[in-house]
Amino acid sequence: MDSVTRRTFMAATAAGGAAAHAAVEKPAVLGGNKVRTKGWPKWPVFDKREEDSVRNTLLSGNWFRGNGKNVAAFEAQYAQLTGSKGCLATANGTSALITSLGALGVGAGDEVIVPPYTFVATINVVLMMNAMPVFVDTDPETFQIDAKKIEAAITDRTTCIMPVHLGGSSADLDAILKIAAKRNIPVLEDACQAHLGEWRGKKVGTWGAAGCFSFQASKNLNSGEGGAILTQSDDLLEKAYAFHNNSRGRKNTGYDFAYVARGANLRMTEFQGGLLLAQMTRLEEQSKRREQNAAYLTSLLKEIPGVMPAKMYDGCTRNAYHLYMFRYDREKFGGLDRSKFLKAMSAEGIPCSPGYGPLNKEPFLKHTLQTRGYQRIYSQKEIGRWEERSRCPQNDKLCTEAVWLTQNMLIGERSDMDQIAEAVRKIHAHAAALMRA
Ligand SMILES: *Cc1c(COP(=O)(O)O)cnc(C)c1O
Repeated sequence: MDSVTRRTFMAATAAGGAAAHAAVEKPAVLGGNKVRTKGWPKWPVFDKREEDSVRNTLLSGNWFRGNGKNVAAFEAQYAQLTGSKGCLATANGTSALITSLGALGVGAGDEVIVPPYTFVATINVVLMMNAMPVFVDTDPETFQIDAKKIEAAITDRTTCIMPVHLGGSSADLDAILKIAAKRNIPVLEDACQAHLGEWRGKKVGTWGAAGCFSFQASKNLNSGEGGAILTQSDDLLEKAYAFHNNSRGRKNTGYDFAYVARGANLRMTEFQGGLLLAQMTRLEEQSKRREQNAAYLTSLLKEIPGVMPAKMYDGCTRNAYHLYMFRYDREKFGGLDRSKFLKAMSAEGIPCSPGYGPLNKEPFLKHTLQTRGYQRIYSQKEIGRWEERSRCPQNDKLCTEAVWLTQNMLIGERSDMDQIAEAVRKIHAHAAALMRA
């Protein structure tokens, strides 16, 4: 036990007296007072800027990107903000990923390297293109794809590596880009949770062949639904444009029906574009606040035995903190189940989530690979081998230990972080009593 840990422990276990730490109070689930009675910062944040934007778009009658200016202005501003050459807005993050895979020519019979610890859309888009998602285990220290295990998963069918910058931190881009260059396979960054995140001082989403973002309601930049693709390639940008515009290239408007390649309508509306322009006026300030609060919270939580905040790779120079994630070691909490820990935290006024389950084990994946179409493309032997290749034991364990806090909890005051840590310390101090409850 180091001195700070001992201090925390002593404070948490000292009984009675004026100097008694707040943590000696009974946990709220056992009838004590809650650490926090007020709510958390509301999300989304908006004011007259958003109100004016929606009204102006409405009154203009230009609701479609073909006759308005908002979406084009958003693309220009987001490209500038991220230091990207090109940007294409899309209906949502899922369609940004599908469009990118389409523009990269990923399709039936291909394999795409993915992490198992992500939102289901990362996997679904691979299946939508009739390709096979191949899972590479998670690095439990960082919650990101374990880049050291990627090369062994590559075959002659691998046509894309899709790291996710999970929670707003970054995957190990140095290692991933090196393998990708060596094997000549494009990298598609799923940066749907990592707005303004950086790797070695340069924005995530600008390192790979393309990078995708989501502006869905829970995300750090929000237009209800929305998405964007960043790319440094003019050729890929034009392919993506045609893909998301019903196979029609950029100059093809009105009744000029000339088609480039297959596609769909995955366009962003002018309402979304206008909302994003307004929301972007706050993004930098909110991101700074999340970063500062998260750093402070980490300094408090890492002193509590059994709480291990997600680490960042050296190259991660800015974490967007879409999620604040840590691992919970029940052994250090006297064997108290994670579910009981989460319940006790929630009772203290600190809502936490257990996060994702192991996606690679989802029955729907196997069912999809057993469909008629997949069976025409992949042999039974390959599908059987897929199950074996997709084992991710580190991720299985992580899924039983993870605890998440959401990004809106990080945009408030520094004292909010003190309360989060206080609740954890209180539960730690009373773990034995909570076990019996
Ligand atoms: C949100 C998200 C997506 C999908 O974005 P939508 O806008 O909801 O379609 C994809 N990948 C990750 C990692 C996400 O968090």
